[in-house]
Amino acid sequence: MHTVSEALKAVLDHVPAPVSQRIPLIESPGRVLLEAIVVAEDVPAFSKALMDGFAISVDDATGSGSVNSPTGMQRLRVVESIVAGRVPSRHLKSLEAMQIMTGAPIPQNCSCVVPVERVQIDQADSGWVDVPRSQMIPDANVLAAGAIARKGQRLLEVGTCLQPARIGAIGELGIAEVVVSRRPTVSILSTGNELVPIGVLPGPGQIRNSSQPMLAAQVMTAGGIPQLLGISEDDTGQLGQKIQEGLRADVFVLTGGVSAGILDLVPEQLALAGVVTVFHGVLMKPGKPIWFGVYRTDSHTCLVFGLPGNPVSSLACFELFVKPALWRLQGLPDLEPGVAVLSERCQVRGDRPVYQPVILRQETGTIMARPVSWSNSADLLATVMANGFARMEPEHGVYEAGEIVEVLPWDRRSCCQ
Ligand code: AMP
Ligand code: MG
Repeated sequence: MHTVSEALKAVLDHVPAPVSQRIPLIESPGRVLLEAIVVAEDVPAFSKALMDGFAISVDDATGSGSVNSPTGMQRLRVVESIVAGRVPSRHLKSLEAMQIMTGAPIPQNCSCVVPVERVQIDQADSGWVDVPRSQMIPDANVLAAGAIARKGQRLLEVGTCLQPARIGAIGELGIAEVVVSRRPTVSILSTGNELVPIGVLPGPGQIRNSSQPMLAAQVMTAGGIPQLLGISEDDTGQLGQKIQEGLRADVFVLTGGVSAGILDLVPEQLALAGVVTVFHGVLMKPGKPIWFGVYRTDSHTCLVFGLPGNPVSSLACFELFVKPALWRLQGLPDLEPGVAVLSERCQVRGDRPVYQPVILRQETGTIMARPVSWSNSADLLATVMANGFARMEPEHGVYEAGEIVEVLPWDRRSCCQ
């Protein structure tokens, strides 16, 4: 039987290349670049003031003509007022200043902007301003053309997930459309005679199909588009029909029916539909009976995951195998596990690595993992406050508080590269 890392490698080896799509920038949050963003013109395009104040030439610091000016001050004639969005009508001459607002283009010969708070405006004649010589510093409060980025520079690489600041920066470069990966479609089918939709009152022996909304949420969190196929009974005819529908998506996730029960029909029905088995069974707890295969036609590949029916098993198998496949399908760099410090003693039983639901929390610079009390893989309610799994090795036995463990946070898109 495969280990988790062998199984993950087998999944990733079958993921096809991402498909690109050009979309409006405004629709790009959470999408992944498949074409790098290159700076087409210097940023900023013109030299500008960084403060409200007076555009001056520092050469005037030693100038004459400071009659009536207080000690240490240079008196300059105010010849123009420049607001953002307008350009100066002339260049600055000796012993002249121009009133200037933040973001406005500086005039020619200007080498410094002195903030308005630092100068004295002549109360009797606002055509004059006294500027302290100490404030006449070359380049102060001036943002030079090209100081932020140069034409031809690469701003964002392929594989970058777009978030608000990046989207704003792309807009600043005048790029209104971006080339990103297409969001993968993921069909979800729950199998089991005992299942009823979540809005229906279960009859004797029946349970609600809780995995379906959970998996749909996991798909959305991972950037995919869920397509809900509802429930199939453990019946070859019905299952076969639903499988045909599911195989049209990029990824097909089924739950239930992959273990050793007499009604576990999923692997054989998938094989009948032409899905090629890659593995069945992984050394892990929960989730051991997971099945993975690939369906290929000339124009389409569908990755098929048969997850065990117990909800915590489905949850874990999705995080461990389906999510990394969705990331790769979108062109994101592969997910790496993190590490955290256990905040409580924890005992591992059995013969397989355990994926223990934990509450991950940042505490004074360290990520702490607190195991939640969890009885078995049907116990989904135990996981409601958890936000990740910690991997615990069976041969380790007892983990003491303070030990370091490998962790998989569930919501990793918020910190994606
Ligand atoms: P199976 O993998 O089909 O043997 O199912 C294992 C256990 O998970 C059984 O107790 C099922 O009733 C339960 N189960 C199967 N599918 C679901 C589902 N969609 N939601 C909640 N529990 C399920
Ligand atoms: Mg079943």
